[in-house]
Amino acid sequence: MINSKTDLSRRSFIKGIGATSIAVGTSAVFSESAEAKDVVKAPENVYESVLGDDVNCIYVKKGDFNGPKGPIGFENRQIAKSEITKEYNCDVAVVGGGISGLIATLKAAEEGAKVVLIEKMTEGRGAFECFGSVNSRTQREAGVKTDKAVLLGEMHRSASYRIGPDVVRTYVEKSGEATDFMEQMFKKGDKGFVIAPMPLRPKYPNTGAPVIDAECMFYNTPGLPKDVRFRSGHVGVYIIQDLTNTAKKHPNVTAKYSTPAAQLITDKSGRVTGVIAKEDGKYIQINAKKGVILATGGYDANPEMMKAYLRPEDYSSASWWNPCWGTTGDGHMMGLKVGAAMDPVPHAVMNFTFGSPESFHIPAVRTLRAMGLYAVVNDDGERFVREDAAFQSISNATNRQATFGKKSWLLFDDTMISKNKEIFDKAIAAFAQLKTKGWLFEANSAAELEAVMKMPKGNLVNTINKFNAFKKAGVDQDFNRDMEFAKEFDGKKYYALVCNSVILATVSGLIIDEHGRVLNSKGNVIEGLYAAGNASGDFFSGNYPRHIPGTSMGRAITFGYLSALHAVKGA
Ligand SMILES: Cc1cc2nc3c(=O)[nH]c(=O)nc-3n(C[C@H](O)[C@H](O)[C@H](O)COP(=O)(O)OP(=O)(O)OC[C@H]3O[C@@H](n4cnc5c(N)ncnc54)[C@H](O)[C@@H]3O)c2cc1C
Repeated sequence: MINSKTDLSRRSFIKGIGATSIAVGTSAVFSESAEAKDVVKAPENVYESVLGDDVNCIYVKKGDFNGPKGPIGFENRQIAKSEITKEYNCDVAVVGGGISGLIATLKAAEEGAKVVLIEKMTEGRGAFECFGSVNSRTQREAGVKTDKAVLLGEMHRSASYRIGPDVVRTYVEKSGEATDFMEQMFKKGDKGFVIAPMPLRPKYPNTGAPVIDAECMFYNTPGLPKDVRFRSGHVGVYIIQDLTNTAKKHPNVTAKYSTPAAQLITDKSGRVTGVIAKEDGKYIQINAKKGVILATGGYDANPEMMKAYLRPEDYSSASWWNPCWGTTGDGHMMGLKVGAAMDPVPHAVMNFTFGSPESFHIPAVRTLRAMGLYAVVNDDGERFVREDAAFQSISNATNRQATFGKKSWLLFDDTMISKNKEIFDKAIAAFAQLKTKGWLFEANSAAELEAVMKMPKGNLVNTINKFNAFKKAGVDQDFNRDMEFAKEFDGKKYYALVCNSVILATVSGLIIDEHGRVLNSKGNVIEGLYAAGNASGDFFSGNYPRHIPGTSMGRAITFGYLSALHAVKGA
């Protein structure tokens, strides 16, 4: 589309000083021209001087969006005083009853503050299994020693050095303390949740990234359903229920569900003094003396925000895996409305592999990941990524394909499956259904498989031959996969299973300081406003580094805790 203002200025420019001068035009030249008053805009950037008017036509690939749209709470209008039907007074208002919101609520309440927690949905979102933590009680007692410098260095490197030092350093220093607090809160709950260090695998594939021992899990909790491990994220649902019950019983907490926050309230100085929400369809005002904590999560259920802030390839062919559609970026919007700064685009999204074209994964097939022996190929039957990289990296590479990740395939044979037959019986049982959907192809040879999949003749055969040769030589000359953790294709049956990427959560947000205070675009604190978890930013840059353990949950717990502490007690 041609911008008419630029178009006008360009014509005036040519008429006034002559076409031959275009390449060296400056605003000083404009001012000497007889027609200078017609000139509204000088060339703005190198593209404009090279491409002329076509600068507005630079081809940017757009994406299709087939994702969910959740109920948006944010209202971009002035809600009048006369519309407020009820007022509540408290010390701290917490918006969002997911993990960061519940930790913030409980910490503020334990510090003696009166807290109002508002959650948009009937219950808070819970989706996680493990979380990052450094030097918590349970880790210390188990003798886990995290190399903090390596962890910090890897966080900066993974963000391409586009993040500030304070928030990540605070995470490394304080996540253990926050974990210990969560452990105390579990003692007040009735499910007896146990936090334990996540055991490191004895030997990892050598991907070149450091293996960082800084993750905890809940699997040692007695009474957890047996299948919880195979339903990734499911343990989080139980934990949110437990913490919610504890919060609801706390004498200092008023918890309101089905109560979406719509906008923040500020005083003349710009300080945030409260929040307006909707309860039973009517507006209520919550005045918060000490601060409002935005714990509203990401915006994966807001199509407009997804399109505005993410790379199109990251959502175009993805499926969604979110147990609660409350994550619509309300906190981001409420913060922006009062002048907050936000992470630059493209934002980071947490991805996972094993997406199907319809919805999230076929649960049994997730077990194939554990097998880890497969190759990953595109629709042309060619490898495009080292298969032993972290989930996120495989998703990134999948999405980068010309199809925007529509068709990538896990390639394996029957010998790879039968190695773990007992565990993978379920996956095999699911094969029939997958075949009818066109998500799984099966053949007696690589040549037959590429023919039934209509891949260019010879590609898949060539890929498998090369893969086998790399295995024999012990070196993957194409992608540097650690071939010790690979297996030759030598079976009687060959399979290709579709494997798109899945969106779990967006993880970029409002810029905060080390106390969780939201900053404006000049880097100054917006008094009275905090953000935690996926509503906050300056932690990741354009990518979620899945190889660093559990940082999204770790950040949510840590900054839920720290923002509450600061709101109640100050620095
Ligand atoms: C299947 C799955 C597995 C995962 N596993 C892991 C894992 O093992 N480790 C890990 O680190 N991360 C994991 N994640 C990511 C993790 O779920 C998130 O990073 C984490 O939950 C973020 O916490 P949060 O408190 O910021 O936001 P959320 O948990 O998203 O909670 C935000 C809450 O705010 C509410 N809300 C939104 N707007 C409003 C409003 N206007 N008013 C009131 N309330 C509002 C929402 O309804 C929601 O309940 C997983 C994600 C998924 C989907």
